[in-house]
Amino acid sequence: MTTQRTLSIIKPDATRRNLTGAINNTIEKAGLKIVAQKRMHLTEEQAKQFYAVHKERPFYNDLVQFMISGPVVVQVLEANDAVTKYRDVMGATNPANAAEGTIRKQFAESIEANSVHGSDSAENAAKEVSFFFSEIEIAA
Ligand code: ADP
Ligand code: MG
Repeated sequence: MTTQRTLSIIKPDATRRNLTGAINNTIEKAGLKIVAQKRMHLTEEQAKQFYAVHKERPFYNDLVQFMISGPVVVQVLEANDAVTKYRDVMGATNPANAAEGTIRKQFAESIEANSVHGSDSAENAAKEVSFFFSEIEIAA
């Protein structure tokens, strides 16, 4: 496996509880390198566009409102097999099903307010990284 990048978002439920450092600690302990990071408050337009893939799902509108309810921290993570590695570190979408030690098991409040986003494929990772970052903002 070659070095790969994935997009992470620390969601509003986690920034609200001041958990950025605790989540970053879990990310770094797992061997993922944070090669870019910025805190921002998404607009409704940006959140809708980012989650457009889910626009037919019943939870789409609630998800968009949740994602704009406070600041997020968007990050690029780098590692061998970063997409799969970060999905493992995040844990299952529903924290009730998340494994011990995962970010969602430790910190998530609910299936919606589940503390982090991570890209689900290499192809989506590339799209999502370029949605938020230009190459000059990423330093490995
Ligand atoms: P994941 O973030 O694990 O890749 P999905 O891509 O399926 O999960 O969903 C995107 C986000 O939408 C989830 O992280 C969560 O915040 C929210 N979500 C997913 N399923 C539900 C649901 N059944 N009810 C409410 N919110 C949901
Ligand atoms: Mg997803």
